[in-house]
Amino acid sequence: MPTRNVIIIGSGPAGLTAALYTARANLKPLLIEGIEAGGQLMLTTEVENFPGFRDGIMGPDLMAEMRAQAEKFGTDIIQGNVTSVDLCSQPISVKTSEGEYASKTVIIATGASARLLGLPSERSLMGHGVSTCATCDGYFFRGQPIAVIGGGDSAMEEAVFLTRFASKVTVVHRRGTLRASKIMQDKARANPKIEWLLNHEVDEIHDTGKGEVTSMVVRSNQTGERKDVAVNGVFVAIGHTPNTSLFRGQLELDQNGYILTHDGSKTSVSGVFACGDVQDHIYRQAITAAGTGCMAALDAEHYIDNIPEHLATV
Ligand code: NAP
Repeated sequence: MPTRNVIIIGSGPAGLTAALYTARANLKPLLIEGIEAGGQLMLTTEVENFPGFRDGIMGPDLMAEMRAQAEKFGTDIIQGNVTSVDLCSQPISVKTSEGEYASKTVIIATGASARLLGLPSERSLMGHGVSTCATCDGYFFRGQPIAVIGGGDSAMEEAVFLTRFASKVTVVHRRGTLRASKIMQDKARANPKIEWLLNHEVDEIHDTGKGEVTSMVVRSNQTGERKDVAVNGVFVAIGHTPNTSLFRGQLELDQNGYILTHDGSKTSVSGVFACGDVQDHIYRQAITAAGTGCMAALDAEHYIDNIPEHLATV
């Protein structure tokens, strides 16, 4: 089995940018796409905040462009899903259900998945009124009523941010008390555009037939009473799960499971770099993911150029 210079795991903006940079550095990267190829932007419609696209671009189109650009410079892309890694072996071993690969370096760009309520209507209206990113999509709801689901800091932050655009923001939370920090709660509670539906859960989002959000059905989990609330957007803000189960026990993770990086994109194992949402629970933007993908590529290139003699011969 030949030893590769770089294996990139994940194919969102971080992974594809890392592929572009390492390909243009003649490192002939191998990128393993994963099940959710293209990452979270595949679940969005119009992207208006990625620089360079004055009129916006559809999320899947942006990812197709990034993929084609990475391929153009010689990235080998395979569609498998990584099933296991041995980050401490030299060379590093990466297995998919189809095969096994060896590499001097690995760039992890497996992202984070937004937690969802699990309603079929939520899935089918994703990108058509249902969103998991207020920064990305708030602007589309100018003057319209919307809902934010969740009771944590993210939900409070998104609700307050969205009042800049929406006519009204209804926060729906499944308990009577919020999980958010007091300062975030106070900020949200002081905002006159925010209304509260505590002890409520969302049962359904309408209208899948029209392909747009017109209302949501909420149910009081105290009385069982259901009602229809007119909204044009539903922002699901119930947390994210970093896709790090493959690396648990091999890399240092923070308490929420995100990969800890230092000095750019370095992880706790030399030769292993991380970029994008798998190591960023704060910014979570396509452009910041792409930026850290570039950093990981440059860090990997530098590592390979300075690889210790005894490891370079493997
Ligand atoms: P979180 O703290 O885990 O809160 C998730 C919220 O969603 C909780 O209120 C939870 O309800 C609710 N929820 C979870 N699953 C649900 C479901 N299936 N149906 C309905 N509701 C559900 O997540 P987060 O708000 O994204 O915050 C993550 C971390 O980032 C936290 O440590 C937070 O402090 C931090 N953060 C900080 C800031 C800031 O300081 N500016 C901003 C954003 C995030 P329960 O409360 O009932 O469990």
